[in-house]
Amino acid sequence: MTQPAGGRTQNESRTSRPQVVLQVLKREHIGPHLVRLTLGGPGFAQFVDKPVTDRYVKFLFAKPELELPLPYNLDELRTKLAPEDMPVRRTYTVRRSDHEAGTIEVDFVVHGDEGLAGKWARDTEIGSSICFGGPAGQFVPREEFDFHFFAGDETSIPAISVALEAMSDQMRGVTIIEVADEADELDLVHPEGVEVRWVHRNAPFAPTSTVLENTVRDYPWPGGRVQVFAHGERDVMKKLRLYFYDERGVDRRDMSLSAYWAYGRAEDTFQAEKRTDVGKIFAD
Ligand SMILES: Cc1cc2nc3c(=O)[nH]c(=O)nc-3n(C[C@H](O)[C@H](O)[C@H](O)COP(=O)(O)OP(=O)(O)OC[C@H]3O[C@@H](n4cnc5c(N)ncnc54)[C@H](O)[C@@H]3O)c2cc1C
Repeated sequence: MTQPAGGRTQNESRTSRPQVVLQVLKREHIGPHLVRLTLGGPGFAQFVDKPVTDRYVKFLFAKPELELPLPYNLDELRTKLAPEDMPVRRTYTVRRSDHEAGTIEVDFVVHGDEGLAGKWARDTEIGSSICFGGPAGQFVPREEFDFHFFAGDETSIPAISVALEAMSDQMRGVTIIEVADEADELDLVHPEGVEVRWVHRNAPFAPTSTVLENTVRDYPWPGGRVQVFAHGERDVMKKLRLYFYDERGVDRRDMSLSAYWAYGRAEDTFQAEKRTDVGKIFAD
């Protein structure tokens, strides 16, 4: 099945929840490449939270020159606009939700002037509006596992942070996160029994980077029942699948392992490629 830009995915039905429209209330630079936006406003009443640690939303970005009113009536727009003029989606983790304040926080990796969402988070005016669908997601770190193995790049920091904060003091594990360099490290709240290791690529991102994979492989295999949460660039995730699944034999049901983005692909292409061999992390 081919998917037009801004089109509906297989899991989305016409009866899906209405889009949530929020305003940008605050911007914080929490690292050289990470911008946190606080979003809120009356539209928060439409936000139906999900009790998982990797909950994510799909922001919709329309071409500014079309001046489309928010929320976007996608069904109607499909009848009027060329596919290339439809709003496009960008997927982001909800780092924190505050139901009393009526806000969510989202941490955006700013990866230069390419693309839409990272740039928008860096440059948009306070008070500007954005809409999104979701949240979805399904991961929860579970007590019944002997060990929790988390790995990823900058894009996984929000979801890993939420998971670490949700873990009890009895839980054990390791978190290995690849960032550009030391300046990108964050102070993560984590249980004492979960070690947090930062690794540095010391270079612009390239899918040939092996620093995350090597550090994961070098970590002594804990044995017992291991729960895996690994997300990041697609080629790197394929290497981690090979390690966790093929070599270590972690049960597929005990892992959340997927690509969050693909080098050289805008999200639209990256998502479309999930239906082709190159886009698949697992063969089936
Ligand atoms: C479930 C899920 C949750 C996610 N959560 C987060 C999150 O909380 N924070 C976050 O920042 N991202 C997150 N991502 C990843 C994010 O959706 C992608 O990075 C997305 O492509 C960014 O959109 P863009 O418009 O900035 O760039 P795009 O227009 O999609 O891409 C433009 C170019 O930039 C490159 N690019 C995209 N992302 C990166 C990157 N991180 N580093 C270097 N180059 C990049 C692409 O390869 C492409 O060449 C998540 C993805 C998924 C699937």
